[in-house]
Amino acid sequence: MPVPSTMKAAVLSEPGKMSIETIPVPNVGPYDVLIEVKACGICGSDILGFHGQHPRINYPRVLGHEFSGVVAAIGSDVKHVVGNDLKLGDRVAGGVHIRCGKCWACRHEISNHCEAGKDIGLSVNGGMAQYVLEPVENVFKLPPNVNFIHGALAETLAVGYHAARLIAKVGAGDIVVIIGAGPVGMNVLLAAKASGAYIVISDMYKGRLDIAKKAGATRTVLAGEEDLKTIVKEISHGRGADKVFETVGGAGGGTLRLAVEVTRPCGTLVIMGNNSKNSIDLPITTFKESEITMIGSRGIPADCLERALLILAQGEINLDLAYTNTVPLRDVNRGFEMFENQKDSVLKVVLDQFDQF
Ligand SMILES: [Zn+2]
Ligand SMILES: [Zn+2]
Repeated sequence: MPVPSTMKAAVLSEPGKMSIETIPVPNVGPYDVLIEVKACGICGSDILGFHGQHPRINYPRVLGHEFSGVVAAIGSDVKHVVGNDLKLGDRVAGGVHIRCGKCWACRHEISNHCEAGKDIGLSVNGGMAQYVLEPVENVFKLPPNVNFIHGALAETLAVGYHAARLIAKVGAGDIVVIIGAGPVGMNVLLAAKASGAYIVISDMYKGRLDIAKKAGATRTVLAGEEDLKTIVKEISHGRGADKVFETVGGAGGGTLRLAVEVTRPCGTLVIMGNNSKNSIDLPITTFKESEITMIGSRGIPADCLERALLILAQGEINLDLAYTNTVPLRDVNRGFEMFENQKDSVLKVVLDQFDQF
């Protein structure tokens, strides 16, 4: 199919104002790949961007960094890229960080910290449109058993994999506590489960815990009715969890304090939730005496998306558990509204039907 000159896109013209507009299809540079989008997830950071609360989004912007689709056009020099065999019509997923490949971070396998980097759907236009542009090194083929929705959600699994496997080094038999069973917590769960960990996950929404149970949580804890500290103590014979993931964030910092308290001596605490105040009180003496390692986690280094797709190719992780709803691109505002306001029943919304307006 020839690529048209214009496309439909969900344009966020200013905070709080997003609508479907007709805009030009982006020009394909020599090392670019144009993807015709088939599915795109709505992420918590998109909600922050929608409300003008994301530090790396400027306006107007087409959001969307969790997407899959088919290759619609290939730049003139892509054929010179060693190892590249992309063809028109290939089913692919695209990564979020555009890396320079030359700075210190890019040369040291922490390319999610590229000093010159841009982010698709944050600082350049993303996948909530009929077409999106990616540099060739950011495009990965979907395994045959991975559908477009799962391909889009591979990015979220990659975030979980990066935090669980690469940062916290979760292994078989580790006691893992995940605070928050939202989309981030659920993907940490899926990645940690694939490592054979014993997983305790807590949330204030029972609907989300029901999904977590299906996704392999060993124990679910309903916040407000059950006491996470007591339960972790029982399971771990009083010492605390080996690896703890705080995925809630929030201004009060209560869940981060709780996370410190359930981490065992010399255990690891990974911070994944966004804290809008950027500063909270912590039980520093507990932290110091316990020799806890506290680490942040942000985005994904270059190879994580490819690894997530290889995990999915094995067919053991079911990403049907990582989303609850699909909404056509034309109803993008309804999708955002559902994701933000129906947290008990809506875990994750994926946009689809990109060809129907
Ligand atoms: Zn995201
Ligand atoms: Zn770089």
